[in-house]
Amino acid sequence: MSESLSGKRILVTGAGSGIGRATAKALAEAGARVMASDIDAVAAAETADMIGGKGAWMQQDVTSEDTWIGAIAETEKTLEGMDGLVANAGIAITGRIETFSLEDWRRQQAINVDGVFLGVKHSIPALRRAGGGSIAILSSIAGLRGNSVGLAAYSATKGAVRLFSKCAALECARGGDNIRVNSVHPGIIDTPIWEKMGMTGTGNTPPSERAAALAPMGRSGDASEIADGIVFLMSDASRYMTGAELVIDGGVTA
Ligand code: NAD
Repeated sequence: MSESLSGKRILVTGAGSGIGRATAKALAEAGARVMASDIDAVAAAETADMIGGKGAWMQQDVTSEDTWIGAIAETEKTLEGMDGLVANAGIAITGRIETFSLEDWRRQQAINVDGVFLGVKHSIPALRRAGGGSIAILSSIAGLRGNSVGLAAYSATKGAVRLFSKCAALECARGGDNIRVNSVHPGIIDTPIWEKMGMTGTGNTPPSERAAALAPMGRSGDASEIADGIVFLMSDASRYMTGAELVIDGGVTA
């Protein structure tokens, strides 16, 4: 992508792996300075190393409000302000509703929903201080429609952030702060999340095979293909876009 983000300063959560790492790299390639945050400090530092001079890193657990307050302050200090947030950190725990534990339900809600709420809550004042900015929230195609493959609890988190994103967009637009909020809906993307879900082991279907069966384009997506969409949302090219859903799924939901 062209240098469309020159001068922008952007915090990416969950930047130590998959879509978050690809996004941090793509943002920097497009000219932004990037704070790569992750609960896994080693992975966040690796991402910053890959970016080089435009990257910094920090350890951050998105479920903690205190940590969010510190993360925003650190981003503003290190990058000399903040123009964007990519609320990407997330987990996927699979299981049928009848046997799903309340503990797993709450853990997934804490990371995928509380983490997004806290990020948006504490980013708004920082973006206002910068004169405006852009927030991209990672939902999923699982936040757009139901499914029967053990993703009910995960889908509940992704549906929640989809509507939260629209409400945040409206509050910010009416507030006149020049802050835009959009959700991103990846399809089946080849990242380590599938292995963590236990969906690549024996007897399960790897993402490439699931995608081949489900996606009209016949393949799974690459993390860079989501990252390119996020670069667009962080850039002024999307300046009239807020409260929208950016679906990048090879045609799955078409
Ligand atoms: P991933 O597992 O490769 O990366 C997720 C990152 O989040 C990891 O680096 C992990 O350490 C970090 N993380 C987990 N808990 C955290 C916490 N409490 N605080 C901070 N960081 C934490 O996953 P991915 O596939 O890159 O997914 C990124 C986002 O995209 C997630 O929100 C996911 O739900 C969404 N998504 C992924 C797919 C897909 O097919 N890969 C599809 C739709 C949506």
